[in-house]
Amino acid sequence: MSSNLEKLLKKNLRVIPNFPKKGIMFQDIFSILEKPRLLKMIVKEISDVIKKEKITKIVGIDARGFIFGSLASLKNGIPFIPVRKKGKLPGEVFKKKYKLEYGFDQIEIQKGSLLKKDRVLIVDDLIATGGTALASAKLVENMSDQQISFMFVIDLYNLNGSVVLKKKGYNVFDIIKTEG
Ligand code: AMP
Repeated sequence: MSSNLEKLLKKNLRVIPNFPKKGIMFQDIFSILEKPRLLKMIVKEISDVIKKEKITKIVGIDARGFIFGSLASLKNGIPFIPVRKKGKLPGEVFKKKYKLEYGFDQIEIQKGSLLKKDRVLIVDDLIATGGTALASAKLVENMSDQQISFMFVIDLYNLNGSVVLKKKGYNVFDIIKTEG
């Protein structure tokens, strides 16, 4: 990871206090999407991980993981699979309940979207407590039996999510580390 990119991204990242509720410092990644040059650099970082880990499918987490995940999928010519919030995916799905930094939710993935041999990179804009990421890994493990890797644009390191994921044996990559 180039510290230059980290500096650039931090400079362009809009942080909105008390959204969606009091006490949350919301990291508004959309300020970065306004700068295509930065977006291109982020996709390059994700692509480096895809090559290093010999990734065969990208799983993007609803909703901002879809943006980075599908761009990386397009650039690398590998499939993109969505993990969506409850009730949004048609057909048969695997389901998993999880705890958010601010509340509870359930996520789902379509059955048959991954093969046993798939090496999956799970992509999201941000990791906080790691609840969403861990639940996503559990969904993936219903189908793939390979090592799972994660890529986050932002790691709110003081909330320990990435530490939890690493302790469970997952590969974890990020671009920016900041306080949540
Ligand atoms: P967690 O499950 O606690 O790791 O929360 C991660 C998910 O919630 C990601 O999908 C993020 O997009 C969103 N999220 C949590 N905290 C924040 C925050 N401070 N700023 C922006 N998004 C957040």
